[in-house]
Amino acid sequence: MSEQQHGKDAGGFSTRAIHAGQEPDAGTGAVITPIYQVSTYKQDGIGGFRGGYEYSRSANPTRTALEECFAALEGGERGFAFASGLAGQDTVLRALLTPGDHVVVPNDAYGGTYRLFNKVLVPWGVEHSIAPMGDLDAVRAAIRPGQTKVVWVETPTNPLLGIADIAALADLAHEAGALLVVDNTFASPYLQQPLSLGADIVTHSTTKYCGGHSDVVGGAVVVGRGITVPGYEDAAERVAFHQNSLGAVAGPFDAWLVLRGLKTLALRMEKHSDNAERVVEFLLGHPAVSAVHYPGLESHPGHEVAARQMKRFGGMISFQVRGGEDVAVKVCGETQVWTLGESLGGVESLIEHPARMTHASVRGTELEVPADLIRLSTGIEDVEDLVEDLKQALDRLG
Ligand SMILES: *Cc1c(COP(=O)(O)O)cnc(C)c1O
Repeated sequence: MSEQQHGKDAGGFSTRAIHAGQEPDAGTGAVITPIYQVSTYKQDGIGGFRGGYEYSRSANPTRTALEECFAALEGGERGFAFASGLAGQDTVLRALLTPGDHVVVPNDAYGGTYRLFNKVLVPWGVEHSIAPMGDLDAVRAAIRPGQTKVVWVETPTNPLLGIADIAALADLAHEAGALLVVDNTFASPYLQQPLSLGADIVTHSTTKYCGGHSDVVGGAVVVGRGITVPGYEDAAERVAFHQNSLGAVAGPFDAWLVLRGLKTLALRMEKHSDNAERVVEFLLGHPAVSAVHYPGLESHPGHEVAARQMKRFGGMISFQVRGGEDVAVKVCGETQVWTLGESLGGVESLIEHPARMTHASVRGTELEVPADLIRLSTGIEDVEDLVEDLKQALDRLG
C-alpha cells in the first residue's frame, strides 16, 4: 500500500496503465500482480499488519493495485474499485450528500444513474433538478446556491452522444459551493481527463472500456487532489470510509480483470476511434440513414468542446433511420458481425435499439430517446467487415 510515486507511475499514459500500483511480486518475481483470493491476513502480533492488510473488504492487494493504477491514470489523489459502476456512484453520493441536499442531474443521464437519483435518493431526502448539461444557462438556473452540493455530468452521453463543457461546469459548480462529479465511462481515462479540467471526482463503469472484454462488471471512483466536502473532511477520506462501511467493493478476480484491461486501453481506444470514424463516414453516405450522432463530426453541436477536452472521439455512435421504429428494430436484427446486445466498450461490436432495450425504462419521461435511434458500440474487428455488415443490413430495407 505504498503511497509514494514511482518513476513508472509518473510516465506517459500507457506506462502508467501497465505499471502504476504494480511491482513484480517480492517473493516470487511474478511480473503480474497475483489474484489475492483471500479474505483475511495473518497478523504478526495483534495489530501487526503486513503492508496494512487486515480484511479484504477494507483492502486487498489486487484491488489496491487497481486503485493506485486508476488514481495515476486520472491524475487524482486516490482511486477506489467497486463491484459495479452503480455501486461506486452510490458510494460517492452517500459520501457527499445528506438528506435535504440538492443535486443537478443531466437530462440524458445513464438510466441506472437516473434511477439511483429518482428512486433511491428521493425517498432518502435528496432532491434533484434535471438540466441539459450542454446549456450552461439552464444549469446555472437549476443550481440552488447553498443547497446544491453536487453537479453530476456525463460526457459524451448515452445514447445521443451529447457533449458537456467540463471546465465551464466546474466553474459553475464551484461558484455555488458544489462539487462537479463526472461519469467518464464513455470516454475512458485515455480520451478524457476530467480532473485536469477542474472536476472534483470521476466515476467509471469499468464494465465498459476499462475492462474492455465484456467479461466483468465493475466500477471505479477517483477523487481529485485536495478536494474537501463542504461541511465535512477530506473527500478522499470520506469516500474511503464509505467504501469500507458500505462494502460494495470489487472482488480480487474482478479487480484483476480490470487491471489487465487497463494495460491495453490506449491501443484499444485508438482502434475503437479509427473504426468508428470509418463507420460514421459510411453511415453518412447511406440513403436509409437520416441522422448520425458522433462528436467527431463538425456538424455535431458539441464538436468544438469535444475537440478541446477529448483526445479523440471514441467508439460510440448513434444514428437514426428513415421509416421510424419498425425499421430501426429490423436493422438491429439483420447484422451478423455486430452482435445485438446491451452494454458497450468491449472488443466486439454491439448494436442495440435504445428505446426498447437500454432506455426502455425512461419511455414517457423527460429522458425518453427517439424510437428510430440505433446505438453502436464499435469494436476493434477489421473495419471492412463492420462496414460490409451494416451495409447489407441497411441495403435490405430498400
Ligand atoms: C454502464 C454504465 C453505468 C453503470 O455501470 P454498471 O457497471 O452497469 O453498474 C454508469 N454510467 C454509464 C455511462 C454507463 O454506461
